[in-house]
Amino acid sequence: MTAQLLDGKAIAAKVKEGLKAEVLAIQQRRGFPPGIAVVRIGEDPASKIYVTSKKKTAEELGFGSFEHHPDATISQAELLQLVGKLNADPKVDGILVQLPLPKHLDSNAVLEAISPAKDVDGFHQLNAGRLFQGRPGLVACTPAGVMRMLEEIGFNPSGKICVVVGRSNIVGRPMAALLLNASATVVICHSKSDVAAEVKRADLVVAAVGVSKLVKGEWIKPGAVVVDVGMNRGADGRLTGDVEFEAAKDRASWITPVPGGVGPMTIAMLMSNTVKAAQGIR
Ligand code: NAP
Repeated sequence: MTAQLLDGKAIAAKVKEGLKAEVLAIQQRRGFPPGIAVVRIGEDPASKIYVTSKKKTAEELGFGSFEHHPDATISQAELLQLVGKLNADPKVDGILVQLPLPKHLDSNAVLEAISPAKDVDGFHQLNAGRLFQGRPGLVACTPAGVMRMLEEIGFNPSGKICVVVGRSNIVGRPMAALLLNASATVVICHSKSDVAAEVKRADLVVAAVGVSKLVKGEWIKPGAVVVDVGMNRGADGRLTGDVEFEAAKDRASWITPVPGGVGPMTIAMLMSNTVKAAQGIR
C-alpha cells in the first residue's frame, strides 16, 4: 500500500477561501474587518518567519493586521501593559504573543493576561479548560487544523484508537482532548512511554515530539492515518518531521508531508479563530 498524501496546503487554501465571505460580512456589519495583533519580542529568527507568514495571510484575507515588535529587554510590566491595551482595542479581535519569550519574561502570566475572548492561539487556561471539559471555546490552532484535515478525508475518530505522541500544552494535550471529544479511544505518549508498542495498535497516529524520525515506519499499522506535526530543522537546513516518512507511507492509508502538511493548517486555523472571535463565537 502507498499512502495518499494529506495535503495541508490545499486544505488550508480551502479554509481560507471559506473565510472570505465571513470577513466581508463582518466588515459590512461594523465598518471594519476582523483584526489580529501579533506581538513579537526580540529577534528570535524562527519567530520572525512565523510572524511574517501570519501577517501576510491576515493581509491577504483583508484583516486588520497590527504588529508590535518590542525590544527583547521589555519588562514584564511593560508587556502586560501592551496586552492590556490590545485587550481594550475594539479593532483587535485576536491577540497572539509569539512564543518563546525571552527568559526574563513569565510566559504563563502573559498568556493569562490575554482576554479569553481574544485568545486566538487558544492557550489561555480558560479556553484550555473549556476544551478539556468538551465545551466550546477558542481551540489551539495546530490541533484544530489536524481535526480539520481528518474531516476532509472522512476519518471519524469515534471508537478508533488514536495515539498522540507528545503532551505539550500547545499541541499534544489539546490534540488529545479534541480526539476524546470526538469519541476516540485516546492514548497519550511522552518521553516515559513505550511509543513503539502504542503506535503499533493505532488507527491514527499524531506525532508532535520535535525529534526527527522518532516514529519508525515499521511501527505503523497497515491502513493507519499518520499526521506528522514535527518540524525539525537539520544541519543541512532541511525540514524533517517526527515520522520516518518514506517507510511509513508504504503502510499508512493517508500521511501528511513535512513541509506542506500540518504547518499551513496552523495559520489557516489562526485566521479562522480570529473570524470566530470577531463574530463573538466561542
Ligand atoms: P515540546 O513542547 O518540546 O513537547 C514535546 C513532547 O514530546 C513532550 O511531551 C515530550 O515528552 C515528548 N517527547 C520528547 N522526546 C520523546 C521521546 N523520545 N519519546 C516520546 N515522547 C517524547 O514540543 P511541541 O511544542 O509540542 O512541538 C512538537 C513538534 O511539533 C516540534 O517539532 C515543533 O516544531 C512542531 N510544531 C509544529 C507546528 C506546526 O504548525 N506544524 C506547531 C507547533 C509545533 P515529556 O513531556 O515527557 O518531556
